[in-house]
Amino acid sequence: MNLSELMKMQMDFSREKFPQFWKIEDEKDLALRLEYLTNALAGEVGEAANIVKKVVRSVVYNRGDLRLRDVREELEEELTDVFIYTLTIAGLLGLDLEKAFYRKLEVNKKRF
Ligand SMILES: [Mg+2]
Repeated sequence: MNLSELMKMQMDFSREKFPQFWKIEDEKDLALRLEYLTNALAGEVGEAANIVKKVVRSVVYNRGDLRLRDVREELEEELTDVFIYTLTIAGLLGLDLEKAFYRKLEVNKKRF
């Protein structure tokens, strides 16, 4: 399964579960949907960062017993949320992330 197929699955799911959200009449509606999704994405990134912060406090600064192995599943879940919102934003805007990924990889290969 490629990224475009995953994106289609996510969009089909979202359109079915949240039909009102996907009633977009004009640019104002589009901007508001984009704002909602980018805020949600930022929230999920924050949740992932908070887990990492707690591990660093424990492992690096010896404040607690938390280890990375203890939070792997939780981190995986938050990163999946990030992935899902990223796919949904791309779906909202009609972006081709798969193509963009390969393009960016080539840029980064030259850059680093
Ligand atoms: Mg989450």
